[in-house]
Amino acid sequence: MKLHDIDDRVHVLDTQTDVWSVIREITGSGLQEDAFYVCDIGDIVRKHKIWTSYMPRVKPHYAVKCNDSLTVLEVLAALGTGFDCASKTEINKVLSLGIEPERIIFANPAKPASHIRHAFATGVDLMTFDNEVELHKVKEIFPEARMVIRIRCDATVAQCPLGMKFGCNPHTEAPHLLNVARSLGINVVGVSFHVGSGCKDPPVFRKAIFTARQIFDYAATLGYNFNLLDLGGGYPGDHGTSIEKIAETINLALDDFFPDPMINVIAEPGRFYVSSAYTLACSVHSIRAVNVEDPVTGHNTVNYMYYINDGVYGSFNCILYDHQKIIAQPLKKTTGNKFYCSSIWGPTCDALDQVIDQILLPEMKLGDWLVFENMGAYTLPVASPFNGFPIPKVHVIADENIWMLLKDIFPLSESHFVIGNTPANLRLGLDINSTDTWSLPALPITIPVCGNGGIIEEHVLEFVGPIE
Ligand SMILES: *Cc1c(COP(=O)(O)O)cnc(C)c1O
Repeated sequence: MKLHDIDDRVHVLDTQTDVWSVIREITGSGLQEDAFYVCDIGDIVRKHKIWTSYMPRVKPHYAVKCNDSLTVLEVLAALGTGFDCASKTEINKVLSLGIEPERIIFANPAKPASHIRHAFATGVDLMTFDNEVELHKVKEIFPEARMVIRIRCDATVAQCPLGMKFGCNPHTEAPHLLNVARSLGINVVGVSFHVGSGCKDPPVFRKAIFTARQIFDYAATLGYNFNLLDLGGGYPGDHGTSIEKIAETINLALDDFFPDPMINVIAEPGRFYVSSAYTLACSVHSIRAVNVEDPVTGHNTVNYMYYINDGVYGSFNCILYDHQKIIAQPLKKTTGNKFYCSSIWGPTCDALDQVIDQILLPEMKLGDWLVFENMGAYTLPVASPFNGFPIPKVHVIADENIWMLLKDIFPLSESHFVIGNTPANLRLGLDINSTDTWSLPALPITIPVCGNGGIIEEHVLEFVGPIE
């Protein structure tokens, strides 16, 4: 497998080094100004171990839309997962790694005809549907396809519900669709659902699996012999979350409703695999101090507005589209205990570009870094360089054990890895082409006190490039 870009190489570190120490090293080098990610592929490997130990019967098909980075796809391919693709381009991306079409499910129930033609041409023959028109398209373009009926079963609480767009009603619509499929001679092989992304309702999986059982039984009356159950996505993936409850529910429901081991059970986790693997670091490039009057005490207090180099048009689009709650942590640990009410803003000239509207932070200085964990899901694939602000680059790391584990497993190879995190290597991956370091002039921000509240002084201080 040839590498597409030298920046994508995985930096192999000793087991003492962690994501935060890597961020400290990069920011401390004085060579980095742009926002950047650190991606720890060890985190993806650990997630896979958790998945296979909690749900040995459920074969994961990673949902490519969640984070389509080549590194992620290669690592998951090496670990042996399948893939859920939603378009021609996603299919091509996975196939280009040398992955067999049998490992792909084309899990978009509403596909453009040209994409179905592409699936036919490339041998990706497992596809979902939830409407009658799709069956007619498939009949015409790819009559041998193996089709999976997607039913609707929504979690009561989910970060991103999907049911209003996809999934047929299992009681009123599914029987009709299966009859239509039968009369068209289409090979329907199973049932899928998606309870909603970021599911906070583990019991919903039991309900969905039971409903799938009912569809299996109905299909049998039409002469179908279903053998595929697809549990979709929805599993949480942030640090500190667990899929234990969901896995318990799923395992029990499978034992109760699908005891036959010949039934192939798959799922389409996206967020679960990548969310916590990515940590974003942004630097403060401008600051406004705002004096506000405390409504209780009547005293003036200072609020800070921090402008950082990634925002809602970049990685933080996840605030708008994925309804993510963002947590900022200062990289520097402060010793003092004075905190200020602060807000964090993206770099573009749009007032919508706000990352956090209220957070207590110690006083940040120009050039200080804020760290955002759990930024691997639904961030980078959606980001745009609007207003000329670049999408952060990704510095990929793994510890020695992960390297030993993965380096010889296709599609990974020795050439994917580089030993060490030296500044020379860092320079390859990040935003600097020169060897100049830059530093900041000391710019103390003074906030003259005045009694009338509101904005009393604005300090928008810009970096002025390398200082000799
Ligand atoms: C987005 C999507 C997924 C992944 O969902 P997560 O909540 O990220 O696990 C899985 N399947 C389908 C069909 C999807 O559209």
